[in-house]
Amino acid sequence: MDTPLINLSELSPEALAAFVKELGLPAFRGKQIAGWLSQGATFDEMTNLPLETRKLLATKATTGALRIAGKLQSAIDGTIKYLFDLGDGNFIESVLMKYKYGYSVCVSTQAGCRMGCTFCASAKAGFVRNLTGAEILAQLRAICKDQKISISHIVMMGVGEPLDNYENVLDFIRMAHDPNGMNISYRKMSLSTCGVVPGIERLMEENIPLTLSVSLHAPFQEQRAQMMPVARKYKLDKLLEICNTYTVRTGRRITFEYAMIRDVNDSPKHADELIRLLGSMLCHVNLIPVNAVDGTGYHKAERERIDAFRKRLEDGGVAATVRRAMGRDIEAACGQLRRKAMEDRSEGKATDGDLCKE
Ligand code: SAH
Repeated sequence: MDTPLINLSELSPEALAAFVKELGLPAFRGKQIAGWLSQGATFDEMTNLPLETRKLLATKATTGALRIAGKLQSAIDGTIKYLFDLGDGNFIESVLMKYKYGYSVCVSTQAGCRMGCTFCASAKAGFVRNLTGAEILAQLRAICKDQKISISHIVMMGVGEPLDNYENVLDFIRMAHDPNGMNISYRKMSLSTCGVVPGIERLMEENIPLTLSVSLHAPFQEQRAQMMPVARKYKLDKLLEICNTYTVRTGRRITFEYAMIRDVNDSPKHADELIRLLGSMLCHVNLIPVNAVDGTGYHKAERERIDAFRKRLEDGGVAATVRRAMGRDIEAACGQLRRKAMEDRSEGKATDGDLCKE
């Protein structure tokens, strides 16, 4: 029986050293391999290893490096959406954004999502599996390698619900922070959740100074539950209670994400209720013109309506900004690239290349 290949990127430094020893290789090879893995290299690219060693490794292991299956670049601001092949028939997306302060990557934390938010493309394509910490990290490695850059900020806002994959996401956060690895400060990481209350409680205990974003989208329990099924389980009052505790305990401001949907949640009544709920909390509201996803029936709120909403919040004492849309011309709202790739696969179309518009 064939022994399954070991994914080297899943191994701790100690486990990698043991693996190298078991193969009868000198210890320094382990260090070399670790260096290459951190750059997202394939065995072929590990040019300072003898050819036989590379061949031997390939019979026993994989590097966990992700293959780029598609890439779309915005002509407006250079934002790049990547589609990665996980090698098991699944695809995931990540987005690279360039800001004045550096490069920020939006990673996926699951292949698909089971939260079922009605406005979201990820929900439509369904849930397949959790990503491991190494698979989340591999997205950063692949992008750094492709662009020859280093990344300063991470946002966990791609496909998936990070707090529905808690252990792996925490592994990822620690690995990305590791001074021997990417060395990204916790303060430059944001984790976005749809409101998984026990996950927020747990995260609060970790004492990791990342930025917590909470997807709110509606200030009324009934309406929120219609848009976000998770709200039936974790009700708005409980969610806001834990958010408030989080800000008090950590001293860190929470960002509330609010997708502005025309004639759904963009009225003055909604703004006033937000003021009532959030007025005394250490927080900030990020208004996002909703990305219209096929089949949802939702449309972007009008610009004047969004501006008036923001002003009403500010006048009521709630800090609010309108999110700058990145990559408008490649607008594949959260999960759309992946959805297309999975549909194409099931229709037997090739994925490779047809999303590439470099
Ligand atoms: N599951 C997490 C993180 C992934 S979604 C969460 O819910 O927060 C990242 C953000 O994109 C969330 O705020 C989500 O509500 C928002 N989002 C999803 N679909 C969207 C759409 N069509 N338009 C605008 N924002 C959307």
